[in-house]
This record gives sequence, C-alpha cells and structure tokens, in this order.
Amino acid sequence: MCIFCDIIDRKIPSSVVYEDENVLAILDISQVTKGHTLVMPKKHFRNIIEADEETVLQCVSTAKKLAAQIVKNTGAAGVNVLTNCGEAAGQSVDHLHFHIIPRYDENDAIVLKFNESEKQDLDEVLKLVKG
Ligand code: AMP
Ligand code: ZN
Repeated sequence: MCIFCDIIDRKIPSSVVYEDENVLAILDISQVTKGHTLVMPKKHFRNIIEADEETVLQCVSTAKKLAAQIVKNTGAAGVNVLTNCGEAAGQSVDHLHFHIIPRYDENDAIVLKFNESEKQDLDEVLKLVKG
C-alpha cells in the first residue's frame, strides 16, 4: 500500500496543481510554506536512486516549470527544489517525489542549514566517492 499511488488513483483526494500522462503534482498537505507542492511520477518507484532515468527527468522537468510558475504567482523570493532519499535523509513516503518549497524570507518555516563539520581530506573523499 502506497499513499501516493492511492492519490494518483484518486482513492485519496488531493489538490492537483498539474497532471499529465506521466506526472502528478499536488499541494503538500503540510504546506511548510504557502504553495509547497509535490511532484511525483505516476509509476511507483521508491526513490530517485531506484527510479529509471526517464522518470526522474520527467519529474525534474515538471518541477522546473512549476517552480517558476509558483514563484511568479506567489511572489516568493526564492524556492527550494529537493528530494529526500531514504529515512536517514528524511523521506517519510516511499514513492519518489520532489518538493517545491517557495521561500519568502529567512524566518519562514523551513531551515536548511549546512553546519560546520570536521575538516575532510578532499583527495581521500574524492577516492571514496569515485569508488
Ligand atoms: P518526505 O518526508 O520527503 O517523504 O515528504 C512526504 C511529504 O508528503 C510530506 O511533506 C507530507 O506532508 C506529504 N504528504 C503526506 N500525505 C499527504 C497527502 N495525503 N496529501 C498531500 N501530501 C501528503
Ligand atoms: Zn506509490
């Protein structure tokens, strides 16, 4: 059972922002900021890593267009477009989705902060990430 598949199948109501053959965009029920929207593929994939490339591109392309539309229509000062992958990254619904979160000012309800962390040897890190 997947709550987003149920939304796509209209078993659960949602506020549809955009829809085409492959993609559905709905208002996030939590509205972290006004206009917070989720873009998801109609085909079920757990996350960005497991989805096929075409599906990801369809979602990203839609997210780009909707981000521009939402910023324009809400008068937001900026926007975060992001996907959480895995519980450790904050993913709570295991159906790939991209958040579009319009940003109004630094005191709005979302904090994305890169904390100072231990210094890393970039050569070592490069070896690690390249495998
Ligand atoms: P994430 O934590 O990245 O997996 O995001 C899941 C998002 O789905 C959260 O921001 C929830 O508020 C949102 N959400 C959960 N259930 C619904 C629903 N029925 N309709 C709209 N958004 C939902
Ligand atoms: Zn699903």
